[in-house]
Amino acid sequence: MRLFEACAPDFPVTDPGLATIEDVKLVHGSDYIDTVQRLSQGLSCPEEAVRAAGFLSGDNPAFSGMHDAALAYSGGATQAARDIANGGMLSMTVTGGLHHARQNQASGFCIYNDCAMAVSILRKAFERVLYVDIDLHHGDGVQWIFYEDRSVMTLSIHEDGRFLYPGTGHVSERGAENSSVNIPLLPYTTGDVWLDALREVLKASVDRFRPEAVVLQMGTDAHVLDPLGHLSVSAQEWLEGIVLVKDLGLPLVALGGGGYEQTTVPRMWVAALLTLLGLPVPDTQPDGRAFFDENLPTPRDNNRAQAEDIVRRVLHG
Ligand SMILES: [Zn+2]
Repeated sequence: MRLFEACAPDFPVTDPGLATIEDVKLVHGSDYIDTVQRLSQGLSCPEEAVRAAGFLSGDNPAFSGMHDAALAYSGGATQAARDIANGGMLSMTVTGGLHHARQNQASGFCIYNDCAMAVSILRKAFERVLYVDIDLHHGDGVQWIFYEDRSVMTLSIHEDGRFLYPGTGHVSERGAENSSVNIPLLPYTTGDVWLDALREVLKASVDRFRPEAVVLQMGTDAHVLDPLGHLSVSAQEWLEGIVLVKDLGLPLVALGGGGYEQTTVPRMWVAALLTLLGLPVPDTQPDGRAFFDENLPTPRDNNRAQAEDIVRRVLHG
């Protein structure tokens, strides 16, 4: 956060503390939470329970203290959601956005689903909550947790699940009354095409659903330099996606998410935080390096025609 504090010295950064066990229970089952707590304390668990909870997979090794660690990364989201439920317009953190955790299973480095906790807290104050996920990966955990809930719309734009974890997020996953919206894009789709698809689907979805509040997951791994995926989005184009959500003018909880390239992640999140606050993004970072991307690799193919076909299928079946 030093970079953010250097760019926005007038905005205090506060410690939200841990999420509570009551927050976790808004989303996760008691047996699953019990398994997480036991493994976290080094206590034995039946192998079948450990397997069912997702801790025998390579992505989610059980480790000492993981319950408290998950409460810590969830605390930003739950506090941010409370700020908005209590009348705020914008609250944000970059520690959370762990969107893969299921109701009763860890998945994709995610133990507790802080995004879903934030949505659940907002639902106590708002009739309809929109969840927007711009991470490279499909926001599957949040989608499945609210799949039958017409009061929560989940909208995820991501690399096509045929080519990337978690393998879901197809257009055909539509939820109750079309409250699940997915934009799966082919590998190497460029940021201009990504942005146009997000703009069109977001507008149509908001017009139809009329949300009262928004949770935004700001994963940065759709960036062209990110090593985990194959989308070709620049920091500037990704930031325009943030602006689309900001311009809805709705109470907003903004969370972090994935991101695995150390020269892009901090720049993108600080640019997002500044932009959400209405502050300009400087041309250079305090150390003199450029804030935005320069000399990015030339895209192989923009996949525009395919993306436009996907958007047509999303909006018109
Ligand atoms: Zn991701």
